[in-house]
This record gives sequence, structure tokens and C-alpha cells, in this order.
Amino acid sequence: MNSLNQVSLKGKRVLVRVDFNVPLDDNYTIMDDSRIVAALPTIKKIIADGGRAIVMSHLGRPKKGFEKRFSLNNIVGHLSALLSQNIYFSSDCIGRKTILDVNKMNDGDVLVLENLRFYAEEEKGDVGFANQLANLADIYINDAFGTAHRAHASTAVIAKFFPKNKYFGYLLGRELESLEKALASPKRPFTAIIGGAKITGKIDVIKALFNTVDNLIIGGGMAYTFIKAMGGVVGKSLVEEEKISLAKELIEESRKKSVRLLLPTDSLNADSFNNNAKTNTSNIFEINNEYMGLDIGKESITEFSKTIKESKTLIWNGPMGVFEMEKFEKGTKKIGEAICFATNNGAFSLVGGGDSVAAIKKFGFAQDVSYVSTGGGAMLEYLEGKPLPGITAIQN
Ligand code: AMP
Repeated sequence: MNSLNQVSLKGKRVLVRVDFNVPLDDNYTIMDDSRIVAALPTIKKIIADGGRAIVMSHLGRPKKGFEKRFSLNNIVGHLSALLSQNIYFSSDCIGRKTILDVNKMNDGDVLVLENLRFYAEEEKGDVGFANQLANLADIYINDAFGTAHRAHASTAVIAKFFPKNKYFGYLLGRELESLEKALASPKRPFTAIIGGAKITGKIDVIKALFNTVDNLIIGGGMAYTFIKAMGGVVGKSLVEEEKISLAKELIEESRKKSVRLLLPTDSLNADSFNNNAKTNTSNIFEINNEYMGLDIGKESITEFSKTIKESKTLIWNGPMGVFEMEKFEKGTKKIGEAICFATNNGAFSLVGGGDSVAAIKKFGFAQDVSYVSTGGGAMLEYLEGKPLPGITAIQN
């Protein structure tokens, strides 16, 4: 596979798939531009070489055709400011109008196409739609890690129209490097920290991690299903009743695979799901019937932190509690601090998944971990060992 660094894009029409799926407020103002910023190195490389950057992305989940709030025109001004140059917008992503817009481009120009998902063909992976996109360009770059696990027209299907002219963008390249660093030859001890609301959606990743890690820490809402599976009384805490037998199997599997499974031992409980709730801390096996566990307790923070600080490779996905509420943020914050501490001592730490990234940002830790992944679902599927269509389409 060719490296983007080694190719000159001078005079070429370069179609780059980015992930500009950014949150917008009611006035269409960008609330968090991280994803746009993350794609800049690749776009700048195209400009610096004297190529013509045709930028395509999805934004939100439009139901049927054009919707103003999902128009990529909403990000053009901000991208222009970030690149310090005028950029152009095409009000479609295929067809006559777009072809004319592309033909007007000069070397070093940037043209943003309209939201790919205004066409249902995008998510269906329609070959004809992919072909029409491909006809716009000489070279294809995929820099959208966030959608690499989807076999969509612009992320995977399109690659076959560029058998010799397809590349990973710099962001996608860095994501893969970081994941490989953690998975291929991890320095040990290797600890994964998995949290969040539910076990559902994280079962496969937990099973896959049992083959690689030395320690698996489980916190957040999902911990209470494990505790109930072990005979604990967890009051009104979040429990997935139908996953209790699975939790038992996972506990058994960790034993067989000699993975140290760390579950919380104490719990910060509340009498209702809000920041003004009455709270108490208890042994996690003995939560009062009227209370629900919304964060890990002090003892668990100490135990988890000790293991994290001794680790040389760390993967973190999912908060330890309801970190959005100040009263229940401490567990997530302290675990984040322990990961930063370990990183400063030479550990490699990879954080991914929407809510852990939100937590890292809330507490200002983004600079103190080794890598913050831009793709939650894609990262989980990669950790599960599943081939990601957006990646294999470039590799094969
Ligand atoms: P997920 O999307 O599965 O990673 O879950 C993230 C969400 O889990 C966050 O919004 C947290 O507020 C929530 N969460 C974490 N711990 C708990 C808990 N003990 N009870 C209920 N929700 C929780």
C-alpha cells in the first residue's frame, strides 16, 4: 500500500472522505470542531502539493434528502477560517452541477461537496452512486476513521474505482498506528478500562480483550449487572436482567483466560437520577432498595487507580459513572487522572468512544493521554478484531 507522504498530488483532483459530522446548535454554529481540526493535515497536504481538494462527508442523520440543518454549507465558513483561504461549496455531491464546480477548480483550491447522506444510496453502499463520486477525481483518500466500520459508498465501495490511486489520510493512518501500538505488541501490564451504561454493545469487545489484556476494569452502569450476577443486591441500579447469565459467563471466561477482572467494590448511590439527589456510599453488594448506584466509590477508585498506575498499556472506553452530573463525576475524573499519571510515567494510553472522549475533554485531560481516538464504534470494532470495510478497501 502506498503512503500519502510519498506521492505528489500536484494538479490532481483529490477526493477526500472526511468525518465532518460535528455537533451544531440551533443557529447552526459548530459546538465542537475537533473532527474538522483532525482532518486538516490531510487537506493541507493536498493544498501544499498544489492538488485540488474535493472534500466529502456526511453530517447528522438526514431522513430524506436536503435539510438545511444537515447541509455541509454550515461548516464552510469555519473550514475556510481554519485553512486561512477561500473555499468553495457545491450544493450537490454528484451530477452536472458538481462536475461543473469541480471543473472550475484551480490547483490548491478546496471544494466541499454537499452532505453525502442526502442520498440514501450512500448508506446503502450503492455502486452506481460510488461510481459517480469517483468520476469527480483522479485520487481517493479515506480520512474518516469514525465511519471506517461502515461499508458505505464513500467510505468503502468507492475505493475499487481507484485501484492504484487510493490512500489513507493522515488521521486514519494515526488511528491505525495507535490501535496497532496497543494491540500488536503491547508493553505489559496491559489494562483495559470499560465503562458506560450497558453491557450491550460491549460484549464482543470484552471477549476479545480477554485474549490480550492482563487486567480488565469494569465500571459505570454495566458493573451492576455483573454484581447482581455474583449475588449482590443493587437496589434500583441499572441492571440488564437478560444479560445476567452472560455476565456470569464473562466472569468465568476471565478466570479461564487468567485475566484479572476488577469490578467496583463500593458504590456511590442516589435516591433519584439527578444532581440534587440524596446520596450514600455502600458496599456495592449491599445497595439499599430505594437507591441506585451512579458512580464508583472511594475504595474502587483507589484499587482501580493502583492497577492503572502500574500499567504500561491502557485502553479506556466508557465512563465510570454519570460524569455529566457533578455529584457523580468523581470516579471518571479520578480514573482519568490515573491514566494521565501512568502516561506521564511512560505508559501508552488510548482513549476512545464518545462518552470517554467527552469526559476527557470535560476534565481537560486530552493533552495528557497518548491518543484520543475520533471513532467510538470503529475503535470498538477494531478492538474486537473485526475487519473494517473502510480500511480493507484501501489495503486490498
Ligand atoms: P455508553 O454510551 O454505553 O458508553 O454509556 C455512557 C453513559 O453511561 C453516560 O452518559 C453515563 O452517564 C452513563 N452511566 C455511567 N454510569 C452509569 C450508572 N451507574 N448508571 C446509569 N448510567 C450510567
